[in-house]
Amino acid sequence: QEDKFKKVIAHAKEYGYIFGSSEIYDGLSAVYDYGQNGVELKKNIREYWWKSMVNMHQNIVGLDAAIFMHPTTWKASGHVDAFSDPLIDNKDSKKRYRADVLIEDYAEKLNQKAQKEIAKAKKRFGDDFDEAQFVSTNPRVVKYLSKKEEVLQRMAKSLDNEDLADVKALIEELEIADPDTGSKNWTEVRQFNLMFGTKLGASAESATDLFLRPETAQGIFVNFLNVQKTGRMKIPFGIAQTGKAFRNEIVARQFIFRMREFEQMEMQFFVRPGEEMKWYEYWKETRLHWHLSLGLGKDNYRFHDHDKLAHYANAAADIEFNFPFGFKELEGIHSRTDFDLKAHEEYSGKKLQFFDPELKESYVPYVVETSVGLDRMFLAVFSTALQDEELEDGTSRVVLKLPAVVAPVKAAILPLVKKDGLPEIAEQIVDDLKWKFNVIYDEKDAIGRRYRRQDANGTPFCITIDHDTVKDNTVTIRDRDTMEQKRVAITELKAIISEKTDA
Ligand code: ATP
Repeated sequence: QEDKFKKVIAHAKEYGYIFGSSEIYDGLSAVYDYGQNGVELKKNIREYWWKSMVNMHQNIVGLDAAIFMHPTTWKASGHVDAFSDPLIDNKDSKKRYRADVLIEDYAEKLNQKAQKEIAKAKKRFGDDFDEAQFVSTNPRVVKYLSKKEEVLQRMAKSLDNEDLADVKALIEELEIADPDTGSKNWTEVRQFNLMFGTKLGASAESATDLFLRPETAQGIFVNFLNVQKTGRMKIPFGIAQTGKAFRNEIVARQFIFRMREFEQMEMQFFVRPGEEMKWYEYWKETRLHWHLSLGLGKDNYRFHDHDKLAHYANAAADIEFNFPFGFKELEGIHSRTDFDLKAHEEYSGKKLQFFDPELKESYVPYVVETSVGLDRMFLAVFSTALQDEELEDGTSRVVLKLPAVVAPVKAAILPLVKKDGLPEIAEQIVDDLKWKFNVIYDEKDAIGRRYRRQDANGTPFCITIDHDTVKDNTVTIRDRDTMEQKRVAITELKAIISEKTDA
């Protein structure tokens, strides 16, 4: 799996998807740039989300709030006081880690041991295998899984009680070592606020301390009444937004899974108090459905319902995805109650209420939020799509089986040779298609190599112009996944590409 992750990172760079930030200066930790293909893939994922959330729901509208917000926003939201992670340093390696992540990784290893035993037994017993029975009776599996639960519960309890000494004690008892050096020489655990500070204003005396937003949600809350009134929205309704967020994360080589500057796609759904659980369930299902529609495989997703809730929530679940390093959070669905709007009422002195014409009363709405990281979506899509495929003739190919709807380049237009009028016809086809689809022209190298290059680039279609094209206006169109080639009329191309790449 570690190997797979390395391949993903190398491929993302080689094909112009992701570069380290300011690489010529040796980069900046946990900050990344998206290259010529990456920017298209990212834009397409964003658009796929936007269409299904905003265009497909008559009662959801968009917003683009500024990254800078009045500093009191973050006092009201609780971020100034409570947006922190427990941090621990290794005295020998001088490396810094999140204490909770070290413990979670330990628990995940126990889980993997249990899964290995289960897989072995499955192989041994074949069709007769009763998994539930095995999991509850096999002594090793029982031991691993109960230890895992015990560790996670103890950590949750210590964090809840803000008992950081016990978090450290747990790390020592489990003999957790620095993943890089194996050293077990740890400092105390302490809380570290994740918000980036900056200053607004020219002179030192008059400058105001600001934060870069650590989530996009607050821009939606403070605009709740603006949108509701001007859009004449009736509850239930939602406001959706995509945009950058910033967190001073403690990170260790997780590529774009955990970044310091990243992009969120969030939707806050405002509902009647008391109806939030109904909508929470609705959005859990709807969001899972959205993920499944990309076709990355049902088994790659699972829900994780939270026992430990954030200060603002009365229910919360993650949609976890099977990344190259195991199942991790991809999206959060949170029932945030009226915590945020009430807090903003209190701090701003302005009412943030809705007059419900059916109930004939005013109230502060409850909120159910869906929040997904665009970069994490990118990683989920990209890492699952990247495959080494053995072919029937004994050779192999690297293919990036991106869902066609989000693929950066939809078709490559390839003249078989650089003469006999074939490049001119190819250019004409490019001109016909380029307003609707991102297409590229490529005439370098033998046709087989050009196909392989497009496979690795994730391009769903290759269109080849040959000498028959001159006679009958037909071309071959090759499908990336099946490698099948078909002869079709040039006039059919738009419809064929649309059928596969339209949402
Ligand atoms: P984690 O537990 O992984 O730190 P979180 O619970 O803090 O995530 P939320 O605050 O719920 O995350 O943010 C919503 C979504 O934003 C997450 O599900 C994730 O997809 C994305 N996200 C959060 N932090 C980062 C980050 N540092 N880099 C990339 N994406 C992130």
